[in-house]
Amino acid sequence: MPFAATVLTLYPEMFPGPLGISLAGRGLREGLWSMEAVQIRDFATDKHRSVDDTPAGGGAGMVMRVDVLAAALDSVAPGRPILAMTPRGKPLSQDRVRALAEGPGVVVICGRFEGMDERLFEAREIEQVSIGDYILSGGEMAALTMLDACIRLIPGVMGAPSSGMDESFETGLLEYPQYTRPVEWEGRTIPEVLRSGDHAKIEAWRRSRAETDTRLRRPDLWERHEGARVQPPSGARRRKQDDKK
Ligand code: SAH
Repeated sequence: MPFAATVLTLYPEMFPGPLGISLAGRGLREGLWSMEAVQIRDFATDKHRSVDDTPAGGGAGMVMRVDVLAAALDSVAPGRPILAMTPRGKPLSQDRVRALAEGPGVVVICGRFEGMDERLFEAREIEQVSIGDYILSGGEMAALTMLDACIRLIPGVMGAPSSGMDESFETGLLEYPQYTRPVEWEGRTIPEVLRSGDHAKIEAWRRSRAETDTRLRRPDLWERHEGARVQPPSGARRRKQDDKK
């Protein structure tokens, strides 16, 4: 079964949106993945079809109702991870994206207003996901971003699967910088080594730039990368194994 995305939203017309063009769009038309958008408002029960109400305890804005959200969610067939887009969630990572892309697909809940009634997350098994430390006006763009990251990893969607492994984050490092023709532009030339044809030298240059750039731009990534590289001394490793016995 191809990767199936179901999105619960107050704005189903936003989907597939940008995922309907370019390689993702072609993959969608070819059936490499599928998508459906469910209108949350269809599950409202009062005569005004209301999906939100004022926050308990007071404060600005409105909160999405748990009964309406749960009814919408329960209308979807089980068997796929359920994700709710929220800045209170765990930051999305390439590792999580890869695992999701290898699975059956996702059910994604998009918030609006001040967010969703917390009881939804207590009553259903839902992974809360953030796409970064900033606030969007709704979960739709966050869902599109997350889905785009997954869909490009689905076999057949991208032309050359080999480009995947060098990419930023796949190795725990940022990718090395890229260049293409013209060789000279506004007096700036492409680094000599990249034009040398010496693959070992090119590899070494790329590795070194990936490391320097990660260290300078993303000390957080660099620290994790270095931490993962440091192996305990063999004596300590043996003792650990002994402990397990
Ligand atoms: N009051 C909330 C923000 C609500 S923003 C708070 O401060 O946490 C409205 C909706 O946009 C959210 O329910 C969520 O679905 C979406 N959203 C906003 N920023 C997001 C982010 N960084 N990651 C994922 N979803 C986000």
